[in-house]
Amino acid sequence: MISSFKNGKRITKLLENRTTISVISPVNNKKVSEFIKCNEQDVNDLIQDSYNAYKSGIWANDSRFRSKILRNIGKLLEKNLDRLAMMETEQIGRPLREMKLQLSRLSEWFEYYSSLIRVHEDSVKPFNGNYLNYVKRVPLGVVCQITPWNHPLLITIKKLAPALAAGNSVIVKPSELAPNSIIELAQICKDAGLPDNIFNVVLGDGETGSYLIKNELISKIDFTGGPKTGRIIGKVAGENLCGYIAELGGKSPMIVFNDVDIDNVVNGTLFGTFIASGQTCIAGTRILVDESILDNFINKFVKKVKNLRLGDPFDEKTHLGPVITANQLDYIDKIVNKSIKEGGRLFCGGKRYEKLKDGNYYEPTVIMGEHTNIIFHEEVFGPVVAISSFKTKEEAIKLANSTKYGLGCSIWTNNLSIAHTVAQKIDSGIIWINDHHKNDPSSPWGGLTKESGIGRENGIDSYYEYTQTKSIIVNCDEYKSDWFGDILSLIHI
Ligand code: NDP
Repeated sequence: MISSFKNGKRITKLLENRTTISVISPVNNKKVSEFIKCNEQDVNDLIQDSYNAYKSGIWANDSRFRSKILRNIGKLLEKNLDRLAMMETEQIGRPLREMKLQLSRLSEWFEYYSSLIRVHEDSVKPFNGNYLNYVKRVPLGVVCQITPWNHPLLITIKKLAPALAAGNSVIVKPSELAPNSIIELAQICKDAGLPDNIFNVVLGDGETGSYLIKNELISKIDFTGGPKTGRIIGKVAGENLCGYIAELGGKSPMIVFNDVDIDNVVNGTLFGTFIASGQTCIAGTRILVDESILDNFINKFVKKVKNLRLGDPFDEKTHLGPVITANQLDYIDKIVNKSIKEGGRLFCGGKRYEKLKDGNYYEPTVIMGEHTNIIFHEEVFGPVVAISSFKTKEEAIKLANSTKYGLGCSIWTNNLSIAHTVAQKIDSGIIWINDHHKNDPSSPWGGLTKESGIGRENGIDSYYEYTQTKSIIVNCDEYKSDWFGDILSLIHI
């Protein structure tokens, strides 16, 4: 049984009185694996080892070496793709076909940041007088990343690649629900030549995470998860005076104007909603449709939803897998029932999938209603979508902006002017026009409103998140001032 990955290897401590945690398959609620929960001493030792590795300069001081190793990691990830995809499906129940596609892009994050640090140029400032002021970007130190279960590898790698590129030592605490692939990732990094203790993994639950974030040697916390936990961690970061980035909740609208090809947009919005069984922060969970095409849109959309195949995620024909836990299944059902009580009109779904009742399967659900209904405001994190209509562009914008979230939005129209005007007015950090979910290592990712998070993943933004500036000011002349002497000598201070 594993408790962590440090010193370049899996640590297995079979001491007495250790708490173990089981990883449970959402497909049948049977045990997949078990690990040992790290206690406070384990966590502190691991942080100290990470700090010593950082201070040694073996990683932080050699950008060409870093670039080479990151590229190696990307290549090794590609070689291990099938094995990693199986592992992800086993622990989170997401269809293998989706996992393979998602993981096939992971190496791009390592390639991007490997290249970025070879082309990044530090700057020289127009400092007044005969001075040379050069500003270097330097790493932060030991950073920790608290990652969730919904895209275990993708979300970890979005954070890990820039943090390593910047020269930090990184500690990841994966979700207790899906830690297996992250241990594999650490082994792949080791095999690719990453020095020991530059990337460590600590296993445990929220309590283990809380030991990690309060340690004074941590320079930054990067978290993805729910807003409630985001706030708790933010308080600790404040107490510890360390940096904080958070990627939190979403209730992303997909706005459909009446000039579109309805069949194409039904396919696009179906993908936007039901990918990963809706268990993603950016899922398009509110569809706002121009009133003049509402009936036509709903008919076609619901027909497609009813044809989605739930089942064994290892079967390549399966469209939707289960949701992550039995508790989550109950939560989804509670919100859906509440929505119906509040007047929501159920078109399909609305209950757990009885044919596969050993697993946490929920029928894909479509509800129409007034925008005041709970289903338009609560993050469900399941295969549930809410539809409502609008009369004018202005009303569409108002409805889209009417939740506490501001992570993503998609706008579906062929009218250039409408597309760009609406995009300017939507309070979301990511906006797609005629698409949804598209992601790239170069493209900033994060929320515009607080409940959706603070800071950015991806691109140069993330490189900046993981570095700080060091300003070096050189007097290019002899030192001629005499502060306590002739006042005239101070003239250029
Ligand atoms: P949480 O926000 O509770 O957990 C995310 C991560 O934080 C996990 O690794 C968790 O550990 C860890 N954690 C929990 N409490 C603490 C703490 N006090 N200190 C340090 N780390 C902590 O997400 P859940 O998985 O419980 O999901 C809850 C809701 O959050 C979902 O229903 C969904 O709405 C939203 N969510 C959003 C995500 C996104 O992508 N933005 C991703 C996942 C969830 P552990 O799990 O091991 O306890």
